[in-house]
Amino acid sequence: MRFSKLRLNGFKSFVDPTELIIADGLTGVVGPNGCGKSNLLEALRWVMGETRAKAMRGGGMEDVIFAGAASRPARNFAEVSLTIDNTERLAPAGFNDLDSLDIIRRITRDAGSAYKANGKDVRARDVQMLFADASTGAHSPALVRQGQISELINARPKARRRILEEAAGISGLYQRRHEAELK
Ligand code: ATP
Ligand code: MG
Repeated sequence: MRFSKLRLNGFKSFVDPTELIIADGLTGVVGPNGCGKSNLLEALRWVMGETRAKAMRGGGMEDVIFAGAASRPARNFAEVSLTIDNTERLAPAGFNDLDSLDIIRRITRDAGSAYKANGKDVRARDVQMLFADASTGAHSPALVRQGQISELINARPKARRRILEEAAGISGLYQRRHEAELK
């Protein structure tokens, strides 16, 4: 699956509707400190179903909503939409009938998150499974967080092995073996 567009509205520092075209070959984002580079990557994880507020550098999920600034009041919702090019029909069954797939996640204060796939209401789990099956997803090693490279370099051997195993996609096997041994 190829991501083609990310749209943000009220998400963290992106208070006004913002569009990022994900062109072929895009591998990184550069810009001055505090301009929102990490927020962009977090928006991508978030729309794929991230549930850990800590991974969004917040105390609670509502912290992704624009919190207000000197001249702008806070917003009541945040919305991120991800457009996936599906001309090659690589999306999993059930999401595969159109040339493009639009996933939208919206969070409203006091009402939690809601998801849509091509305009239809879907569950968080549907979206998470969609990306897990496509080997991307909020926890994918394809998304390199700020500081993750130095974490890898500075990690103790055992911790480093865990990171590499996760990148190789075999950490699930250990989990299954562990569960089997407990039975
Ligand atoms: P660096 O180069 O230092 O890593 P960056 O480009 O990655 O910077 P981000 O961390 O993405 O920057 O953006 C930080 C900015 O986002 C800060 O100014 C912070 O105040 C703002 N921000 C984060 N969450 C919110 C929020 N909920 N509402 C408003 N602004 C927010
Ligand atoms: Mg950053």
